[in-house]
Amino acid sequence: MLRLHDTALGRISSLPGLESGRLSMYVCGPTVYDDPHVGHGRLLLVYDVLRRYLEWTGVQVSHVSNVTDIDDNIINRAKDTGQSPSELAVRYEERWWEAADALGALRPHHAPRATEYVARMVDLVAELIGRGAAYELGDGVYFAVSSVPDYGLLAQQSLESLRAGARIEADRSKRSPEDFALWKLSAPGEPAWPSPWGPGRPGWHTECVVMSLDLLGEGFDLHTGGLDLKFPHHENERAQAVALGRDFAHHWMHHAFVEVAGEKMSKSVGNFISLTDLLSREDSRAYRMLVLQAHYRSPVEVTPDTIARASSTLERLDVFAGRFPAAFAGSRPAPPSAPALGPRDEPSVLDRFRGAMDDDLDTPRAMAIVSDALRQANAAADAGRADEAQSLAAALAEMTAALGLFPDSSGSGDGVPPDVAELVAALDAARSGRDFPAADAIRAELTAQGWLVETGPEASRVRRRRD
Ligand SMILES: [Zn+2]
Repeated sequence: MLRLHDTALGRISSLPGLESGRLSMYVCGPTVYDDPHVGHGRLLLVYDVLRRYLEWTGVQVSHVSNVTDIDDNIINRAKDTGQSPSELAVRYEERWWEAADALGALRPHHAPRATEYVARMVDLVAELIGRGAAYELGDGVYFAVSSVPDYGLLAQQSLESLRAGARIEADRSKRSPEDFALWKLSAPGEPAWPSPWGPGRPGWHTECVVMSLDLLGEGFDLHTGGLDLKFPHHENERAQAVALGRDFAHHWMHHAFVEVAGEKMSKSVGNFISLTDLLSREDSRAYRMLVLQAHYRSPVEVTPDTIARASSTLERLDVFAGRFPAAFAGSRPAPPSAPALGPRDEPSVLDRFRGAMDDDLDTPRAMAIVSDALRQANAAADAGRADEAQSLAAALAEMTAALGLFPDSSGSGDGVPPDVAELVAALDAARSGRDFPAADAIRAELTAQGWLVETGPEASRVRRRRD
């Protein structure tokens, strides 16, 4: 059974909820004010792989991921672009789901928007004031972190040590520098909802508490997000639930950053890679492959080289799937909902695969097992050991489906028309006949028709350019 690193415990532990064959998971989603970047892509992929894998083992997953559609960033960007905040949010929410679909990430069962839950957030803030855990200031309502004895659990620091590292803020009216806004009074012209404290908008940390408890119930199994959300966002979500006496998430999972040239990708460094751009140039499965090749708690380096290496691994899988199309036919477009450890599978390979995945979602080890199985299967097929090759092909189809990779068994990329396939065959014939001028001419013709040509050791493949 799956065990995962729990940020609150600082170690790998089991998830008791899994014993009932169910898992409730809340993924902190995007604030929709800009195009998604490759870091968002990693977020989508890490939790998609977790969900697909659990579903493949027969677990029923309830997946909730929110959309923050009201926030200072949205208001500021809307001012800059002359749109209304709601127009801007609708537009970038669409872009978010387009990118998620392009990545093959399963949609959450619920994707609540913050603006749909404002009335309940007002109730929660009022309850916190009633319990003495929140107080009103001139610009809104603040949470008093001193009301939570174990504040700092996720940061793995005490309030005293957090305080020692905190900068002295200009706003000295707060009781403590760590106190955070639950309700912000709106300036004239800004979006506003009614509240007992005046028209305003909810603080970001409040929305996830309300929506996760509402949709998944108290004591839900898993709360997830990027490492940058651990503190203060998740700490502050948790603090509110504790102050309310509610049983909150039982397990906290955080994934690491995307790096570009050894540096964390961030707005301040200005080294963002747009996910939309990446997906217009590359097969989305190559990015999934790259994400799988790193452990979720380690950084992923996104460069043309790492993407190219992931693509060539993917190509080997596709070429193999082309040799055994029947084995992979069932793995598209959806994975099996229950494990199919039938007699034609290779139990030892699948057992090793499950062992790796169950060990804190060790996808690099799982991918090494996939690569080994692929090598063995090709060797068996080359040597005419058909039964062994078939059995390994079945295991490979299972494992790749569990990871959402879906090798392309068509042998020629997706949706390639017959006349283009003929040109590709002619290209390979020219190459094997060492007629390089003819090969170059055919390649130029394919490029002119809008196809990307990938020349493999055995055969060339094409896929449609998406830019
Ligand atoms: Zn959140």
